[in-house]
Amino acid sequence: MELWYTEEHSENVRFSIRVEKQLYSAKSKFQRIDVFEAKEFGRFLTLDGLMMVTEKDEFIYHDMIVHVPMATNPKIQKVLVIGAGDGGTVRELTRYDSIDTIDMVEIDQMVVEACKKYLPQTSSRLEDPRVNLHFEDGLKFVREKENVYDLIIVDSTDPFGPGEGLFTKEFYGNCYKALTAEGILVNQHECPYYDDYAVSMKRAHRRICETFPVVKVYQAHIPTYPSGHWLFGFASKKFDPVKDLQADQWNALGLQTKYYNTELHQGAFAIPNYVKDLLEEANHE
Ligand code: SAM
Repeated sequence: MELWYTEEHSENVRFSIRVEKQLYSAKSKFQRIDVFEAKEFGRFLTLDGLMMVTEKDEFIYHDMIVHVPMATNPKIQKVLVIGAGDGGTVRELTRYDSIDTIDMVEIDQMVVEACKKYLPQTSSRLEDPRVNLHFEDGLKFVREKENVYDLIIVDSTDPFGPGEGLFTKEFYGNCYKALTAEGILVNQHECPYYDDYAVSMKRAHRRICETFPVVKVYQAHIPTYPSGHWLFGFASKKFDPVKDLQADQWNALGLQTKYYNTELHQGAFAIPNYVKDLLEEANHE
C-alpha cells in the first residue's frame, strides 16, 4: 500500500509527497496538526493540510527570513517573532550573540509541543535563555507594545484561520508602533504565481505600503511551497535592505549558512517583471 500527502496548490494543481509514516495527528483549538515522515523531505509538519516545514528545505525559508534583516542592521538586539511554532526562526536568531531578547508569540501551544517532540531539527533552540515564549494571539500581543523591538518577524500561516489577523492594516500599524525608529518588519509574503495566493500577496503588500516608508519584496526558491516561488516582505522606518546591507560586517561573523549569502541577499530583491507588475497593481487597486 502506498501513502501520499497531497496538497492543492490551486484548484487544478496538486503537489504530493510519498509518506513512509504518519508520526502525529491532533486537532487543537485552532487547527489540525500533522507530522509525517518521508524519504525525500524527511519529517514534515502540516497545519490544516498545508505545508509548514520540511526537514529538507526549511533551511531556505529560515535563512531568508532571519539573515536578510540581520545583515541589514547588525545592531538588532530586541526581536519579536510572531507564529513560528516549529522553532526554525528562533534557531537562526539564537546564532547571533548580539541579540539579547527574543519574544516569540505563538497562538497554538500544541504546535510547539508537537515540534519539540517530532522536529528537533527546528525546535532545538527554543530553550535558549534569551527566548520568552508567549502562547497568545500575535495580533493582540503587539497592540500593547510601543517603541520596543528592533525587528519583528511574522512567520505565520496563510491569511485564513488563526493567521488572518496577521495580514490586516491594524496589525501592520501596531507593528509600526511596536518598532523602534530603526525598526524592521519581515513577513512571509505568500506566492505570486497562483491567483488565489497572489490576491493575498497583493493585499498584504498594499497594506504594508500604506504603513511603512521603506517597503521591498524579496524572493526565494522553496520546493515544497506552492509553485516553489515564495516571497518575503521587508518593511522599515529607515533601512533599505540593498543600499544598507552590511556585507563585510555580516561576513565577519563567520556564520555558516546553507542558502543565504550576501551576494544572494542583493539578488533576492531583483524580482521578475510579472511580480513587479503585481506589486504595482496592488498599489492601484
Ligand atoms: N513557515 C511556515 C509557512 O510559511 O508555511 C509558517 C510556520 S509556523 C508553523 C506558523 C505558525 O503561526 C503556526 O504554528 C500557527 O499556529 C501560528 N499562528 C497563526 N496565527 C497566529 C496568530 N494570530 N498569532 C500567533 N501565531 C499564529
